[in-house]
Amino acid sequence: MSSTHYDLIVIGSGPAGEKGAAQAAYFGKRVALIEREPVLGGAAANTGTLPSKTLRETALYLSGFRQRGLYGVNMGLKDRVTARDFLYRERQVQHNEHLRIIANLKKHKVDLFNGHASFVDAHTLKLENRGATSVTLTGDFVLIATGSHPFRPEVFPFHDARVYDSDTILNLHDIPREMLVIGGGVIGCEYACMFSALGIKVTLLEGRDRLLAFLDPQVAQLLTRCMIEMGVDVRFNETVTSVAASRTQLTATLASGAKVSADTFLVAAGRSGNTDRLNLPAAGLAPAKRGLIDVNPRYQTAVPHIYAVGDVIGFPALAATSMEQARVAMVHAFDLKYKTRVTPVLPYGIYTIPECSMAGETEESLAKKSVACVAGVAHYDANARGQIIGAKNGFLKLLFSADTMKLLGVHAIGEQASELVHVGLVALQAGAGAELFIDTCFNYPTLGELYKYATYDALGRRAKARGESHAPFDATDPAVTTAQS
Ligand SMILES: Cc1cc2nc3c(=O)[nH]c(=O)nc-3n(C[C@H](O)[C@H](O)[C@H](O)COP(=O)(O)OP(=O)(O)OC[C@H]3O[C@@H](n4cnc5c(N)ncnc54)[C@H](O)[C@@H]3O)c2cc1C
Repeated sequence: MSSTHYDLIVIGSGPAGEKGAAQAAYFGKRVALIEREPVLGGAAANTGTLPSKTLRETALYLSGFRQRGLYGVNMGLKDRVTARDFLYRERQVQHNEHLRIIANLKKHKVDLFNGHASFVDAHTLKLENRGATSVTLTGDFVLIATGSHPFRPEVFPFHDARVYDSDTILNLHDIPREMLVIGGGVIGCEYACMFSALGIKVTLLEGRDRLLAFLDPQVAQLLTRCMIEMGVDVRFNETVTSVAASRTQLTATLASGAKVSADTFLVAAGRSGNTDRLNLPAAGLAPAKRGLIDVNPRYQTAVPHIYAVGDVIGFPALAATSMEQARVAMVHAFDLKYKTRVTPVLPYGIYTIPECSMAGETEESLAKKSVACVAGVAHYDANARGQIIGAKNGFLKLLFSADTMKLLGVHAIGEQASELVHVGLVALQAGAGAELFIDTCFNYPTLGELYKYATYDALGRRAKARGESHAPFDATDPAVTTAQS
């Protein structure tokens, strides 16, 4: 058994591990990265972000969803979609991502080790492969980027092959006829939409009284309406108390006494940190609730030379934020004098059908801070690009400070919402206000133009609220007058 010393040892090759390793190596540090799976990329490449987003595109394509009614013909679902059809492109995208990550680590001269890592002491990690210790590595710094796994509530019989979580759903053998999705969070809503688009009868159970409580209420309401129109049976304030399995179906009994049967269950009940086999106590660490690791704002654990980033530290548990956390942690560890914090303005993309996205404050969060705001809304159906792509539903909503017209929040629902939000995200990051969107000349016809009209709308509402007789915009423009109050 050999032992090798590194400036940094990274555990995990997901977005956090990859970017943390690359960041340190770019600045000349000697870096080792340990991954226990035979493939790189973690949940983002293999079970989470990319697979689910690729499956969404596949579902939209195979079902002709985007084109429905657009050309005067109804492009319905092709006769019979097989699980093979459904998963084909997902496997391709995954493979390409594996190649990209290997190339990136190679380019940065990161030494890659395959095996399960666990602490021997605070500076030493051992690697195990098939139960045998293959190598021991020592490091000045350690970056824990081990991610998370689906939480499995005991009430569900996961030994039954018809009960899936968000990892195992990617091993689907047959396209089901009926699916019960348990959990109306991001993952539950995304999968409910894509399976519904494929023509599967989907029931979605949510324990609270609305979907995705962190979203702007108007966005969440429109999403819920679109899901119901698409055929999803959305049930609020419901939890599963027991499950009975027969040869042909599974039946969930709900707290309300109602019963829901389906041939497949997808349980999306949150995630737990991957720390149980890291032997944290050997490093002087202890996991917190649900296997998560506590860190300070620079991502240091209780042992200062050990950093933790990504899903293993919990909220917001997104690929995007995980990468940024890793970069900031490495800048701090090696005093790189470069990027000292993760921006407080984070984007959220929810790939439901339609897509939702947001950045910055909501009206609710501003009310809690007693900040007076004015909202401006512009709708896709009053936008030329929206018309071209046949987007019936969708809007962009901007929240400005009522005093200064500084932009405070951006909320979008509709086609490409997670791209559209970036214009506003950059404006938020720059501390810009209404003037930016009024002065900017946007391409035409684009969804980007919605920024100008949402701003006009906000200015008009503000003028009206202040009893000003004239609004500083072209109030005859239909895009402006369709805004809701
Ligand atoms: C269905 C789904 C959809 C999602 N959609 C999005 C989205 O649209 N946008 C978004 O930003 N995020 C999305 N996410 C979240 C995103 O996938 C995660 O936030 C991201 O992957 C976290 O990155 P990470 O590097 O922290 O962990 P991971 O990607 O989980 O990587 C951790 C790696 O560590 C390895 N590992 C664990 N323990 C050890 C050990 N002891 N030794 C060696 N290796 C170990 C694991 O094998 C894994 O490869 C989604 C997640 C899911 C499940």
